[in-house]
Formats: sequence, C-alpha cells, structure tokens
Amino acid sequence: MIDFANQVLDWFQQHGRHDLPWQQNPTPYRVWVSEIMLQQTQVSTVIPYYLRFMARFPSVTELASAHIDQVLHLWTGLGYYARARNLHKSAKTIEAKHQGSFPTSIEELMQLDGLGRSTAGAIAAIAMQIRAPILDGNVKRVLTRYHTIEGWPERASIKRQLWEIAECLTPQNQVAEYTQAIMDLGATVCTRSNPSCIQCPLQTGCKAFTQGNPTDYPGKKPKKILPVRSATLLILLNPCGEVLLEKRPPTGIWGSLWSLPEIKSAGKEFDIRHCSIEYNTREELPGIRHTFSHFHLDITPIKLRARQINDEVAESGRWLWYPLDQSIEVGLAAPVKKLLTTLTE
Ligand code: SF4
Repeated sequence: MIDFANQVLDWFQQHGRHDLPWQQNPTPYRVWVSEIMLQQTQVSTVIPYYLRFMARFPSVTELASAHIDQVLHLWTGLGYYARARNLHKSAKTIEAKHQGSFPTSIEELMQLDGLGRSTAGAIAAIAMQIRAPILDGNVKRVLTRYHTIEGWPERASIKRQLWEIAECLTPQNQVAEYTQAIMDLGATVCTRSNPSCIQCPLQTGCKAFTQGNPTDYPGKKPKKILPVRSATLLILLNPCGEVLLEKRPPTGIWGSLWSLPEIKSAGKEFDIRHCSIEYNTREELPGIRHTFSHFHLDITPIKLRARQINDEVAESGRWLWYPLDQSIEVGLAAPVKKLLTTLTE
C-alpha cells in the first residue's frame, strides 16, 4: 500500500500537472468549485469557465449573495445545471450556518447540497490536508484495472469494495499531493480507451497490465435504450427583434434556466398566459436532438415574427424579452443558446 502511494507521488512530482488554476491558492472554496465543475467534464473544458467564475465570484460570500441567474449565466454551456444550483444553495448554507467558513469534517461537508463523499474527500484532502479517500471516475478506473475488479463500479457491492481499497491506499502524509496525483494519473496516463501503461508508475503491480487487457476495466454499465421525447419550442420575435423566453420551474429539466416557451400546437394563434399574438411569418426550423442522461429530446423550433402582441407578456419574473445580442446575464439551456445563436448568424 505504501509502495502504491509512493509510486504515484514520485510520478506526480515529475510528470503531474502543477499549473492548473485551482492548484494555485487551493482554498476550500476554490477547490470546491473546481471539483464540482470537473464532475463529468474535462479539464480543458472547465478551465475557461472556472476562470470566469472565480473572477466574478472570488469568495463564497460573493457567490452566496449573487442572484441565481448570474450563476447560471456563467454556467451556460457547461451542462448538468443542478451542479450550479447546488453550488449556489450550498454557498448560502455556508454563509448562514458556518459564518462563511467551510466545515472541516467529511460528514458536515457531505451535508452540503450536491456534495458526495468523493468530492468532500477531495476538498478535505487538497484544501485542508485531512486524510480522506476519494473515488472519482479516474480513481475508479485505476483501481479496477490495478486489481482487475470485474463489473460496473457503480454497483453497490463493487463500490463498497473500491472505497475500502481507496481508504487503505490513501497515505498518512502528503495527502493533498496524493489526491491530486491519483486523479491526475487516471486522467492523463490510465485513460479510458488508450492507457499509456508504458509510462505508468504502477505497471509492475497492475494486474490488468499483466493480463494485457486494461481496457476491459472498469466494467460497462448495463445497456439501456433511452426513450425519445419530443417538444415544440416557440421562437417568438417581437417587432423590436427580441425573443420571448420563459423561466423554467426550479426542478425538472433545465431547472431555473431560461428557455424558449414550449407549446402544444402550431396553429395560427398562440396563447401564452393571456397573450394573444398575431404574426406575419411562421417558419419551422430544422429539428435538433438534445440528449439527457435518461432520454433524448427531439426539439422542433417554430419561428414566428409577431406583427402585434395584444397583451403584455409581463408576469413578473417568468417572461423575458431577450435581446439577441445576448447582453443580458441569464442562464440558458444549451440547445436554447444554440438556437438563439443560429438566429443571430
Ligand atoms: S499499468 Fe496501465 S492499466 Fe495499470 S494502472 Fe497503469 S496505466 Fe492503468
């Protein structure tokens, strides 16, 4: 076990990444934001989002006092928006319950919204030098290969086994470096489809390398065919060239984000909360498919240019006439942003 940690640490010193933005001044807040952004997302994608986020919200206090729209605006395009909502909610909790200081135990960290055991461990280890194991996707890959553990690592029994191994392997000292190192090794050497075993410090003890089949691990998730849903979205342009957006409810898909209104039919007149619209042109744009983790959504966009809007679309906080230069700071669902961008082109 000591060998494993030492091999990983020696490798990290020479070959690991030391210049990522969140490695500079690794406070609990900075590490927390980076760990949340890095969930399901690659480092190269995260960096510009992280830098913008930190420039805008340099501390948990500033994040807690921001409006959710400002937070979602900076998250637009990064996906998995529940992460941003949870980050914002947790910042408020840290301000209210912990006087702006991060809790220092894994149990308390895990009580924050959206913070699982692995992320709590990473924050504790990297920012507070507390010995705590982590088990993110990169670490799962290294461990399942090193020990040739069969099966899908999200299965409860396998996950339990992996946590036990991760716990044993975490060293008593240099826990911050080790945590960075094991994540880095998984991300850059023990990669999903093309591991560079030849450059790996763990090669001599790695069972999958000895067997010659590292890519058989980790086991795949049992296949499930995603259902297909469909939606018709209205792109309603007013005479000033602004587009009508509707705020989604806080839960469900695109929670709290601004979206094009979903309509049931594409007849001559549309009723949007007592707003009756007369229009000059109606155009059905090419459909797009957006895939969520649990279903595909086939979107049919209908574009209307309104000649006259007979009533105010003014239910406070729910409707927004959005200028196409996108100068308003609001969070947009990714396919909505894509559709709006095509309108400006
Ligand atoms: S030897 Fe290959 S499979 Fe084993 S941990 Fe290293 S990179 Fe991964």
